[in-house]
Amino acid sequence: MVQSSAAAASSSNSASTTDQRLIWINGNLIPRSEAKVSVFDHGFLYGDGVFEGIRIYNQRIFKLRSHLVRLMESAERIHLDPKLTIDEIEDLTRKTVAANNLQDGYIRLILSRGEGTLGLNPFSCPVPGVICIADSIRLYPEEMYRDGMKVIIAERPRIPVECLDPSVKSLNYLNNILAKCEAIRQGLYEAIMLNTKGEVAEGTGDNIFVVKDGVISTPAPDAGFLLGITRQFVIDTVAPACQRSVLERTLHLEDLYDADEIFLTGTAAEVIGASKIGDRIIGNGKVGPVTQEFTKTFREMVAQGAPED
Ligand code: PMP
Repeated sequence: MVQSSAAAASSSNSASTTDQRLIWINGNLIPRSEAKVSVFDHGFLYGDGVFEGIRIYNQRIFKLRSHLVRLMESAERIHLDPKLTIDEIEDLTRKTVAANNLQDGYIRLILSRGEGTLGLNPFSCPVPGVICIADSIRLYPEEMYRDGMKVIIAERPRIPVECLDPSVKSLNYLNNILAKCEAIRQGLYEAIMLNTKGEVAEGTGDNIFVVKDGVISTPAPDAGFLLGITRQFVIDTVAPACQRSVLERTLHLEDLYDADEIFLTGTAAEVIGASKIGDRIIGNGKVGPVTQEFTKTFREMVAQGAPED
């Protein structure tokens, strides 16, 4: 999550500081200052690789298995064989978290194509890079959860599924970064991206939900976006716990402007309300009751023992 100094209000507690972190690189835990990858790594040269961002809550790794499944699926879809099983990747992830003595924090798990030639050919890279970073996390300020986030609609559409399926969490985030730049230029943090048909897809780093007359909807997967682990947890677990259900359907811009409430979900943001899109106020301009209930329920659930499935 990109943060201005004003927004970087809090970071989670941890036993070691960021400078003392041990980073997992291809089988070894290495001090942060020595943790380097080759300039010939295709992850660096071409964004050729995949990754995950995962939260640690009170030493439990939130939805770890779901993140690992998504990582393996992303890898398969770019023809990247990590040469490790899902269990081995789980094991190295847990070892990295333990080595850094983290109670709460954030894990960045990366599979890169590895070192190769300057040409595009991914098959010139015989050894994939497997990297795991576990660190503290910077959170959005609490006022933003209370008052709601202001967002914009990005002018740049989300990359079409047939070009590079956004459900692959690839190392190439330029589509999202450039949309985020549109928000940052207006002094905001997040932009909502539409697909090339003009349908609502997702935020640059979050999924989106709308509430209208008590009905909660979120874009259906065919809109082309990252199938968020938090999104799925909200649909499968948070909503039912609040005696509610979520409809997956096509959403248009008017659905956003007409909404009573809008909220975003993601590993870093959890569940956060949006109060304004550009100049337009959403609902009554305050974080609505459904969003408040979902934010609270999500937090209670992870505090009580975050599920690792
Ligand atoms: N969409 C995009 C583009 C993302 O990068 C992310 C993750 N930051 C999400 C949605 C939310 O996914 P998750 O809940 O798995 O973090």
